[in-house]
Amino acid sequence: MEKFITDEIQDAAIKDLGKIVGIASYNEDAQPNAPFGKGPKAALDQVLEIAENLGFKTFEDPEGYYGYADIGEGDQTFGIVGHMDEVPAGNLEAWDVEPYQLTEKDGKLYGRGTQDDKGPTMSAIYAVKAILDKGYKFNKKIRIIFGTDEEILWRCLAEYNKKEDPIDLGIAPDADFPLIYAEKGLQQSYLVGPGSTELNLDLENAFNAVPGKAIYDGPKQDEVFAALKNHNFDADQKDGSIEVHGKSVHAMNAPEGVNAVVRLAIALSDVFPDVKVLQFLKEFGEDANGTNLLGDVSDDVSGRLTFNISSLKITPEESRMQIDMRIPVKVDHDELIKHVSDSVEKYGIKYENYDYVAPLYVPTDSELVKTLMQTYQDLTGDTKSEPAISGGATFARTMNNCVAFGGMLPTTPNYMHQANENWSKADMRKAMEIFAEAIYRLCV
Ligand SMILES: [Zn+2]
Repeated sequence: MEKFITDEIQDAAIKDLGKIVGIASYNEDAQPNAPFGKGPKAALDQVLEIAENLGFKTFEDPEGYYGYADIGEGDQTFGIVGHMDEVPAGNLEAWDVEPYQLTEKDGKLYGRGTQDDKGPTMSAIYAVKAILDKGYKFNKKIRIIFGTDEEILWRCLAEYNKKEDPIDLGIAPDADFPLIYAEKGLQQSYLVGPGSTELNLDLENAFNAVPGKAIYDGPKQDEVFAALKNHNFDADQKDGSIEVHGKSVHAMNAPEGVNAVVRLAIALSDVFPDVKVLQFLKEFGEDANGTNLLGDVSDDVSGRLTFNISSLKITPEESRMQIDMRIPVKVDHDELIKHVSDSVEKYGIKYENYDYVAPLYVPTDSELVKTLMQTYQDLTGDTKSEPAISGGATFARTMNNCVAFGGMLPTTPNYMHQANENWSKADMRKAMEIFAEAIYRLCV
């Protein structure tokens, strides 16, 4: 195997990484042609300038949603999808270094974005550059796409897909090696049913987490508390309210959590048997795979459906629940939604769509996955790590025939979204080598 990455190449990549880490690029109020604020726009401008100087042909969306850098020619386009936005540094006291400045210390590169996702994106740019420096020509067009709204709502790539032609294959270096070839479909919705004059509830939570606690301060508290104890649910009663304790986990792992809202609803259904939505929740039960409602929904690739009910609001006018479903990649979305709608109908409940993100699925016997896996194994000697599936979401799923590939090794400590975010130079070097070899095998 040829050695593409030299000290010189990595040093140049680190120097340019410093330029984009030096720009705080978390989401802020929109400005003209900067839909996510001045930070993401400035980081986008900067990375395009870097790519331009390395010989790429660059383009910036006139409205500022995204940009890209092209090099090479061919009938097909190989995409590399990264992002220039980041989460804020958070509590500065928790940092040992200045977050918006690249600091090298003990062989590690510190700064917001070094792991997520400025470091991996810059590594991929220089991996392409390293192949060019060896005098090779690409047989495909290589397009490095820079998003600016990954951490919030992905509006950047929604715009990209509206305005640009799809890629033919590609990678999103924004997760872990070896690779993620399947991500479940992500459906967030409301279930809306009849209201109640007997019981008012306002249990609000985020869609994407199993609620770890639920407070009840309504009528018949002693009876409700007794019902909770009757079900062996963990709860405290004091100062005129009841707190039900559950276990909060991310919605994609909902079956591993304990849903405090559902537990409270089950107990309430014993005390208020006429409130229809509570009967629904009682029958739905504590099964976050939705089996009681829908039967077994699963496939051989990505496993079982997860079904998280995160909120419950009851007013005299209506009852309303937020649900988050992670749908197995081979399950037909429209059929599933019809199944849900039909199943809740007998409780007087209607299904309302909020947001849907289609799944990612590139079969493991595809050329793309086989080549990337082989490259990873050849360069690391790690033949144990398998291609992964995830209930989470990367940019890979916004693109045709694209998988999440790196840039973190299985042994890299995860500092994404945390204080003291850093990436070791050794791990960065390994990621660059893997990217270069993979792009060489796929595009030269
Ligand atoms: Zn990211």
